[in-house]
Amino acid sequence: MDNLRFEVVKDAFRKRPVEITPANVRPSELFGRLVFNREKMYKYLPSNVYEKMMEVMDGGERLDRSIADEVAKGMKQWAMENGVTHYTHWFQPLTEGTAEKHDAFIEPNGKGGMMEEFSGKLLAQQEPDASSFPSGGIRNTFEARGYSAWDPTSPVFIIDDTLCIPTIFISYTGEALDYKAPLLRSLRAVNNAAKEVCQYFYPDVKKVHTNLGWEQEYFLVDQDLFFARPDLMLTGRTLMGHDSAKNQQMDDHYFGTIPERVQTFMKDLEIHALELGIPVKTRHNEVAPGQFELAPIFEECNLAVDHNMVLMALMKRVASRHGFRVLLHEKPFAGINGSGKHNNWSLATDTGVLLHKSGKTAKDNLRFIVFVVETLMGVYKHNALLKASVMSATNDHRLGANEAPPAIISSFLGKQLSNILEHIEKADLKDIFTIKDKQGVELDITEIPELFIDNTDRNRTSPFAFTGNRFEFRAVGSEANCASALIVLNTAVAEALTNFKQRVDSLTAKGTPLDNALIEILREDIKISKPIHFDGNGYSDEWKQEAAKRGLDCEAVCPICFDAYLREDSVKMFENMNVMHRKELEARNEVKWETYTKKIQIEARVMGDLAMNHIIPVVTHYQSRLAKNINSMIKIFGQEEAKKLTARNVKIVKEIAERMQAIEMGVDELIEARKIANKIENQREKAIAYHDNIAVKMEEIRYEIDKLELIVSDDMWTLPKYRELLFIR
Ligand code: ADP
Ligand code: MG
Repeated sequence: MDNLRFEVVKDAFRKRPVEITPANVRPSELFGRLVFNREKMYKYLPSNVYEKMMEVMDGGERLDRSIADEVAKGMKQWAMENGVTHYTHWFQPLTEGTAEKHDAFIEPNGKGGMMEEFSGKLLAQQEPDASSFPSGGIRNTFEARGYSAWDPTSPVFIIDDTLCIPTIFISYTGEALDYKAPLLRSLRAVNNAAKEVCQYFYPDVKKVHTNLGWEQEYFLVDQDLFFARPDLMLTGRTLMGHDSAKNQQMDDHYFGTIPERVQTFMKDLEIHALELGIPVKTRHNEVAPGQFELAPIFEECNLAVDHNMVLMALMKRVASRHGFRVLLHEKPFAGINGSGKHNNWSLATDTGVLLHKSGKTAKDNLRFIVFVVETLMGVYKHNALLKASVMSATNDHRLGANEAPPAIISSFLGKQLSNILEHIEKADLKDIFTIKDKQGVELDITEIPELFIDNTDRNRTSPFAFTGNRFEFRAVGSEANCASALIVLNTAVAEALTNFKQRVDSLTAKGTPLDNALIEILREDIKISKPIHFDGNGYSDEWKQEAAKRGLDCEAVCPICFDAYLREDSVKMFENMNVMHRKELEARNEVKWETYTKKIQIEARVMGDLAMNHIIPVVTHYQSRLAKNINSMIKIFGQEEAKKLTARNVKIVKEIAERMQAIEMGVDELIEARKIANKIENQREKAIAYHDNIAVKMEEIRYEIDKLELIVSDDMWTLPKYRELLFIR
């Protein structure tokens, strides 16, 4: 029997955990081994250059060109000692992954030989051929000029034989062509706005930084099985496949024992991640069979985003050494949970105050409430935009399904915090302030600290939940660049804090005491942002109706959700906060629509190909086998008796014929619908057409194929089945 499926299944069963060279050093010693971090800078840079680098990294000072050469020299020395021969500017274009173009250090030495060369200029700036990256028309291919510039706040690192330099990627006219440039701008915006609000409470705060702790979910599939599934290979998800009889009903996978081969992969991955300075901490099984999670300790947002991008690439490489494929797609398998990437987000000062954490004094707690409420204000005002920031053709399968947050943004606060906000909103001013001897006014909200640590009333259905000392944005997709969501979140909160300060200042200018002004505006904002606050079951149908009544954005069609980026209030927000201007937003939306279309287009092609070249031939084959059997039965038993005896087979032959017809017709319609959609010039309209007419059709075809999978003899089926993909490891 010449069936690839059985060969790969047999091989997969035989696989044993791969030997990994056990690191004889403690994880803490591995940490950052391949990163040109402060410790290495101290060792490899002259002390004046080191000092300057610290200012650049901490204070956001510009990197002086005159020291760039010195930095490059130290870096090169360190890199070469680690066997590095190449360098690359490493950036995050608007495709989901990262991009790099490797150049060797070697240059002619003018004497007929070669020498290793790496200058400050090469470190600071490069011109990748930008025409091959999406720009949404900002830069057409004739003037393919974009450049990448080093982001010194994210340290360079070594992968294999290459020195990777994290860079922003922008056009010559300054428009962002990547995720990092606007992310850095959004971090600056939130720093500026939060710092000023902070100074009401702590005058010595000079900087507010953003924390991000992501939790990466993923699936592992045996590599050989993966290669026997063209749909997984080409689209990252299974376009067909009947449910496994057992999947996640028993809830026996979550936090269960990690299978040995997987455990070895995880260990190996962690060693590499630690070497690259990623503070990996947690690993466990996830809800679905074959699904796992990895989470590091939170870090400064820009660095955390880079680390997530590095990690996703690393996972793929390490997995293949262990005979696995990592699936980062948000929904590789229908019928079981998909993968997300919770983004734990908070603000903190350079003086060590976590702004989203309550404190011991009245002042701390007022500050805490201000930051919580203004975060809610930002999320409320821009809830449509925030949703758009996590929407994609792939995450579309997950959002709104009964496993992930719905396609409506709301925020869970928990009982305690809700009560406190209600108290502040409704209480008499006299009740909020109690006069306390010489220290002046005291707030009646001091008693909150410890209680928050206990997050017993967590709500898994909330897309944006308060979890004690941070907010957790859960709608982010597993495959996404976190920056997309964080650009919006940071900017929205920056805007809310800016507005807050303006209103407070205008009250104090009129003579209102600061505390009263703070409380007054806070009360206003608690009221205004109330519609975003929802502690109930986000999966319920009642919530959808209720959310619509509250005026929250309930649009569920992915390409239409992107419109939120171009709404006047969004453009105004991005422009006022100096994060992006209209032209950039328009261009990025073009990319989003185009990407959406392309993803569905590829899926549709693969679906057509699989249906016609894998499914139909196999099914026809099986059908003739049955037909032959019926004929021989007639020969043996005669018409009359055979009719009774072959009734079941006759029924199946008929069912197969009908389903095959439906598939063939569906594929024809799919091709036709694509032809029509492809003629549409406008990217937005085209994406909508792909959503309305093509994605739907694929589901119809899938339905028929999955039914056939149940009927056709197992020995003939060529595509690895769900039970094999999910349980063999
Ligand atoms: P969960 O129960 O959701 O899995 P964990 O305790 O594992 O939560 O934490 C998830 C992530 O949140 C980790 O990366 C952790 O470092 C991060 N985290 C914890 N506190 C904060 C905070 N104040 N701000 C940002 N991230 C945080
Ligand atoms: Mg979490």
